[in-house]
Amino acid sequence: SAKSDRRGTFRFFEPAMDVQLQARRVLEVDLRKALAQGEFELFYQPQVNIAQNEITGFEALLRWRHPERGLISPGEFIPIAEDIGLISPLGEWVIAQACADAAIWPRDIKVAVNLSPVQFRNKGLVSSVVTALANSGLGPDRLELEITESVLLQDNESTLAILHQLRGLGVRIALDDFGTGYSSLSYLRSFPFDKIKIDQSFVRELSSRADCLAIVHSITRLGESLGMSTTAEGVETEDQFIQLRAAGCTEVQGYYFARPKSIRELVFSLGHFRPSTEVA
Ligand code: C2E
Ligand code: MG
Ligand code: MG
Ligand code: MG
Repeated sequence: SAKSDRRGTFRFFEPAMDVQLQARRVLEVDLRKALAQGEFELFYQPQVNIAQNEITGFEALLRWRHPERGLISPGEFIPIAEDIGLISPLGEWVIAQACADAAIWPRDIKVAVNLSPVQFRNKGLVSSVVTALANSGLGPDRLELEITESVLLQDNESTLAILHQLRGLGVRIALDDFGTGYSSLSYLRSFPFDKIKIDQSFVRELSSRADCLAIVHSITRLGESLGMSTTAEGVETEDQFIQLRAAGCTEVQGYYFARPKSIRELVFSLGHFRPSTEVA
C-alpha cells in the first residue's frame, strides 16, 4: 500500500532527522523538476498612481503550482531555490515571462520584476535581461527591476556595476521593502533609484501608530527631494490610502485595490486593455 511505501521511503532518513528537514528535502527534489515541468506562474498586482488615479504598472509575483500541494507562495520556495542554485534559471524564466506578458499590454503600463540578491552573483543577469527585452520587443523603460537592500549589502563593487549596466539598458530600478534594512539611508546614496517602495510593515500600522505615520511622511519627502517616486506596499484599507495620499506618496499597491491575479484573470478583469500596437 501507499502507506507502507511511504514508511519505506522514510527509512532512508536518519531517525533523528527533523520532520521539517525531511519536508524540505522533498520540496527540493520537486523544485529541481518544476521549471522543466512548467509549474511556475506569474501573478500580477496593479500599482496605482494616486494623482492620476490610474494603473501605471503591475508587479509580477511568482507562484509555484505544485501538482499535489497546489499554489505555493514565494516565501516558501525562493529561499530553497537560492540555496540549491536554482534561482538564476528560475529568475531568468521570470524576467522572460514578465516581458512577454507585458509586451501585449498598453504602452503606458510597466511591469515590475523582483530580483534575488543571489542573481547578482551570477554573471548572466544582464544578458538575460537583454535577451528578454529583445525577444519580447518590450521597451526597456517598461521594465522595472525591484531589488532589496540586501542586494547592496553584498560585495558592493560588482553589484553596483551590474546595477549601472542594467540602468544603462534603460530599465528602471526600484528599491523594495525600504526601511527594513540596517542602514537604509546610506543605500539611497549608493544608487540613483527610480522608485522607493515603502515596506508594508510601516503601512500596516499607519492608522494606529504615530511613529509609522511620521516615517512614511519622511520617506515620501526624502523620495521627492531625491527625485525618486514612492510606492506604498500592502495597502489594505481606505484609511491607510487616505493617509498615504495626504503624505504625498506617488503610488499605492495592495489588497485594497487588487490582490495579485493570474494573467488569465487579469486579461478578463481589465476589459479596456487593448493589445499594444508595439507587438501587432
Ligand atoms: P515583495 O516584492 O515585497 O512583494 C509584496 C508581497 O506582499 C507579495 O507577497 C504580495 O502578494 C503581498 N501583498 C500585496 N498586497 C498586499 C496587502 O495588501 N496585504 C498583504 N498582507 N500582503 C500584500 P508574495 O507574492 O507572497 O511575495 C513575497 C515575496 O517573495 C516578495 O515580496 C518578493 O520578495 C518575493 N518574490 C515574489 N516573486 C518573486 C520573484 O519572481 N523572484 C524573486 N527573487 N522573489 C520574488
Ligand atoms: Mg517586490
Ligand atoms: Mg516589498
Ligand atoms: Mg518583501
